Amino acid sequence: MTRKNIVGIIALLVLCGNNFAQRTTISPKPKLVVGVMVDQMRWDYLYRFQHRYGQNGLKRVLREGFSCENAQISYAQTVTAAGHASVYTGSVPAINGIMGNEWYDRSLKRDVYCVEDDAVKIVGGTGKGEPMSPKNLITTTITDELEMATNFRSKVIGVAIKDRGSILPAGHAADGAYWYDPSSGNFVSSTWYMKEISPWAAAFNHRKLIDSCYRLNWNLSHPIETYTQSDVNNPSYAKNPFPRKLESNIGKNYGAISSTPWGNTLTLEFSKAAVEAEAMGMDSITDFLAISLSSPDYIGHAFGPNAIEIEDNYIKLDKEFELFFNYLDKKVGKGNYLFFLTADHAVAHVPAFLQEHQIPAKTMKTSKKAEEATMKKFGLKKLVEASANYQLYLNRKSIDSAGLDFGAVKSDLIAELNKEEDVLLAFDNASINAVNLPAEFKEMFVKGFNHKLAGDIQVVYRPGYFFSNSNTGTTHGSMYPYDAHIPLLWMGWGVKQGLTHRKVYMSDIAATLGAILKIQVPSGNVGSAIQELIK
Ligand SMILES: [Zn+2]
Repeated sequence: MTRKNIVGIIALLVLCGNNFAQRTTISPKPKLVVGVMVDQMRWDYLYRFQHRYGQNGLKRVLREGFSCENAQISYAQTVTAAGHASVYTGSVPAINGIMGNEWYDRSLKRDVYCVEDDAVKIVGGTGKGEPMSPKNLITTTITDELEMATNFRSKVIGVAIKDRGSILPAGHAADGAYWYDPSSGNFVSSTWYMKEISPWAAAFNHRKLIDSCYRLNWNLSHPIETYTQSDVNNPSYAKNPFPRKLESNIGKNYGAISSTPWGNTLTLEFSKAAVEAEAMGMDSITDFLAISLSSPDYIGHAFGPNAIEIEDNYIKLDKEFELFFNYLDKKVGKGNYLFFLTADHAVAHVPAFLQEHQIPAKTMKTSKKAEEATMKKFGLKKLVEASANYQLYLNRKSIDSAGLDFGAVKSDLIAELNKEEDVLLAFDNASINAVNLPAEFKEMFVKGFNHKLAGDIQVVYRPGYFFSNSNTGTTHGSMYPYDAHIPLLWMGWGVKQGLTHRKVYMSDIAATLGAILKIQVPSGNVGSAIQELIK
């Protein structure tokens, strides 16, 4: 062996040694799990606006991490509360009890909000907010399981603008769930988690960062002519051109921030304050920061996927991700945290916009035609007691006291509904398995059907059809892929680089986290670990 070769080998060994030393700085367990749910983010936004993204935001996750390109919601009610509950419980509305943002309660004779709880109080706000807790979530969350696995030594914190976006992910045993109170401009919490608002949260609120956000107004990130993926002639845009003035809201309107990209900024700044104050990711016990970015949902509802507001929101959000990753790299260490990003649901295009291009879509007006026909036939004064999540709750008392057969009345109403042009299919919720629907869709209704909370009849409208009184704006909530196809990205501790086009489900996320963290899956889990991404 020549001297040159020996020097070469020694150099190689030193290099390997260095690599080994670097690798050993990665902690044996993730120090922190950061779950981010982007409310209403469609999967296609990863690609539709990719030419607008920087190298170190979403593109970094795609480059260094793992993307599940075909992640789907497995139940029919594609709404915020059900989505947050499904991701964190690994379960579905049939089991976890969260079958919508609200549902009708037959015994209370009123709509119930997913996280309402009269037994608790709000802390940290003006006292005007409705009391909230995870009481209605009847299974554990992966965050609860992490707490149990570490004898409650893990720090678990939920943060969002929306209460349900914070509470349902944080779970029952969290150290805190914080959400935004529009009446005070403060992040608030509940006596479920704490006697009074944490001092660090109070200090954050005292900074009134929201006023600084308002002072920035809403300016586009790039010249308007470069927004080629968006319809600059959108009527909402034309009425209210950029820059959008926000300064006038200071001291007056603290709700307005929710419908701007600064809602994301505020949420992430509060999340960083939580990391600092709670020393998250600072020791060998895994902590969990569950963030939900609610503003994209508010912006999306108002303007739809083809609007300049959405393109600009995602340009700004991508930059926020870059800054947030830089912060986590520095604070917790690159490779020491496990990051995942997903959405609670996606969204439909604005029907009027689709119609302009001869694509089937419609905003429907509520119709009582079918109900009136059945009432007339049976001589009933009352028939439908309530409706929620495209389900009808029949007035059993009225049908009983008229001495009528409940099944016969129900069948007749279903037949009348099926005559309507906008209805794809109406069916009896008590016999979902007998419904003639493709298995993929039928399964979504089975998983969404909660025996205690569901209505009697399910109505499925045509794709692209929904109820609205406005020509602008859009919504979600259907079983169709435009609402059910969500992004699912992973990066960091324990995650391989790559992607899969295999169909995976929102309800597989908790089981995947369970496998990586080596902890139990939640009590109602129905999902399976996504093996391809686990190192
Ligand atoms: Zn929404």
